Amino acid sequence: MTATFINGTKISEDIKREVAAEVEGLKRRGIQPGLAVVLVGDDAASSAYVNMKARTCEQLGIYSRKLTIPSAVTTEQLLAEVSKLNEDDSIDGILVQLPLPKHVSKHAVLESVDPKKDVDGFHSANLGSLVLGHETLVACTPSGVMELLHRSSVTLEGANAVVLGRSDDVGKPQALLLMHANATITICHSKTRNLREITRQADIIVAAIGKTALVTRDWVKPGAVVIDVGTNKVSDRAEVQRLFGNDDARLKDFEKRGYIWVGDVDERAVKEVASMITPVPGGVGPMTIATLMKNTIKAARMRRGL
Ligand code: NAP
Repeated sequence: MTATFINGTKISEDIKREVAAEVEGLKRRGIQPGLAVVLVGDDAASSAYVNMKARTCEQLGIYSRKLTIPSAVTTEQLLAEVSKLNEDDSIDGILVQLPLPKHVSKHAVLESVDPKKDVDGFHSANLGSLVLGHETLVACTPSGVMELLHRSSVTLEGANAVVLGRSDDVGKPQALLLMHANATITICHSKTRNLREITRQADIIVAAIGKTALVTRDWVKPGAVVIDVGTNKVSDRAEVQRLFGNDDARLKDFEKRGYIWVGDVDERAVKEVASMITPVPGGVGPMTIATLMKNTIKAARMRRGL
């Protein structure tokens, strides 16, 4: 069997078109949805993510505001900035770009965001609502994975789904979303014994552990659907060749940038047994930003009781 690739880039473009149409509809009712992104410090990767989010807002007709705050900011000062955004009626969604500097309390900052504007879905009130199965704002990456599964017509009801990873932003909400979709869930983490035996029972595997190509062919039941959330930077040419052989596109990419992004799944091996697989890049990655846009519109509606 050779797996079908789930094209996250195409699906994310479909979602963005739907969001743009919804924005038009809201504007006709006099509502201009707005997203504020808070960037603390000058980390290049974080800055690139924030700019990409602002650009996507612009493309879709969403008002965006970028706050750039020096890394020396104190927790109290950052809380005051978030508080102003909470009060600002032109802002429907607030996203605090992570990671924050070590001296700033991430917990205090994330908990200070008005849950109604928490488009990242990280606030404990939103996570609690997710546990209860209430309509709420849910973390973008796991929501994006659900979109990929639904739009690829993967049967979730009664399926055995294994989630690798139990982080607050990916693994836990992912498992809850799959459970609410009536899959039977197993959550694995770094202390799980016999990982391979567990994943071999799965109809669906969602890998979110941050370990390059850990999930390989004999971890996967023939015909399983494999979703690869992992994003690992590989800067060793020999490793690239070990994982992808003489794949021209990967090698060219590597020569150009000096590294490539690789998932938690050994794509070359697993695609021989899985029925569907998400590529890295071009699978889950583009969905995260599309879902952020979707969450912003959802927040704009929910805040107004629409
Ligand atoms: P994280 O907070 O570091 O959590 C990793 C999880 O994986 C933890 O629960 C950890 O277990 C578990 N784990 C680590 N090594 C393991 C192993 N050998 N076997 C089984 N479980 C193991 O990471 P995260 O934020 O969830 O992100 C996971 C990956 O997804 C990263 O590569 C990240 O870059 C990527 N990511 C991608 C997107 C995207 O848009 N594509 C978005 C978010 C994250 P313990 O709990 O026991 O430590």
